[in-house]
Amino acid sequence: MTRAHNFGAGPAALPLPVLEQAQAELLDYQGRGMSLLEISHRGDAYRALHTEAQRRLRALLGLDDAFRVLFLGGGATLQFAMLPLNLLPERGRADYLLSGAWGRKAFADAGRVGQVRAVWDDDGRLPEAGEFTPDPDAAYLHLTSNETIGGLQWPEYPSSGGAPLVMDVSSDFLSRPLPVARLGLAYAGAQKNAGPAGVTVVIVHESLLGRSGRALPSYLDYGVHAAQDSLANTPPVFAVYVLGLVMAWMEREGGIDGAARRAAERAALIYAAIDDSGGFYRCPVPVAQRSSMNVVFRLPDEALEARFLAAAGTAGLIGLKGHRSVGGCRASLYNGLPLESARVLAAFMGEFARTSG
Ligand code: PMP
Repeated sequence: MTRAHNFGAGPAALPLPVLEQAQAELLDYQGRGMSLLEISHRGDAYRALHTEAQRRLRALLGLDDAFRVLFLGGGATLQFAMLPLNLLPERGRADYLLSGAWGRKAFADAGRVGQVRAVWDDDGRLPEAGEFTPDPDAAYLHLTSNETIGGLQWPEYPSSGGAPLVMDVSSDFLSRPLPVARLGLAYAGAQKNAGPAGVTVVIVHESLLGRSGRALPSYLDYGVHAAQDSLANTPPVFAVYVLGLVMAWMEREGGIDGAARRAAERAALIYAAIDDSGGFYRCPVPVAQRSSMNVVFRLPDEALEARFLAAAGTAGLIGLKGHRSVGGCRASLYNGLPLESARVLAAFMGEFARTSG
């Protein structure tokens, strides 16, 4: 079998050894005569892998005991609402730094729950130091660490001025360290960097549990999941299992530092292909804020973009179409994408520019 070079924005490329192990264990999980898909989430086998996935994730990110690691359903999208329900008191106000489509979705849902304020709103760039003043009295300060559609990534996280720092890290999770010393909460759908679709990781500091004072339906209450170790109801068992395999793979591959190094290498190849093309490819993002995960770029016109995408597909390079809301091209370079795929894409881009420019 030939593996495609998969630049899709998510669900995205998973490491081949992870897929192979999942395949090998699918029919008969550890000699039980049953698939993992068929066993109880209350049994020892599931319990062990659930705990192990949490342990590995904690170790990778250097999380201490003050953080709870939750495995939830509903995607990162559910967190857009669950977060303010849990952290935003009826009379409080939460601040949002908006840098693109995902931050705005989070902001819109939070606004349906309580009072919110946009302290930055620009899809084209992130604020430099001093361009916004964090309010220490905000219920929290929310940012999107990497805007998946716009290709804009915070190079360093801003100060939240003492308010809890809350981050949607869906599209750069585990590709760089989290600022654990000053983190309130981080959430991520697993399906880009950490595993398959179906499980969302929420990392929450225990001091924030119950913060909003609202009476919540049980599934929507972080406190319920924290108290029952994400086993309050049936968790997405297969997704958690594969996430655990990805965590083990990451450990073998040098942890977060290794992932960050590989992310930088992949991104450098594609940005070089853009910057060395004499203006044939253009990336609209300020250089210092370019994403290492989602490289967005345009060609001179849409007809050329269509030809580029078609030719890439024929060459086995898939998932390069930009998000439907903005068009253009986008190469997503998540943790599971081999460096070789980035090399192949960079060479393809160079060749296409030479023959079509
Ligand atoms: N936040 C970001 C930054 C995303 O990229 C996405 C999905 N692409 C979401 C949130 C929504 O995630 P989900 O589809 O898991 O709800």
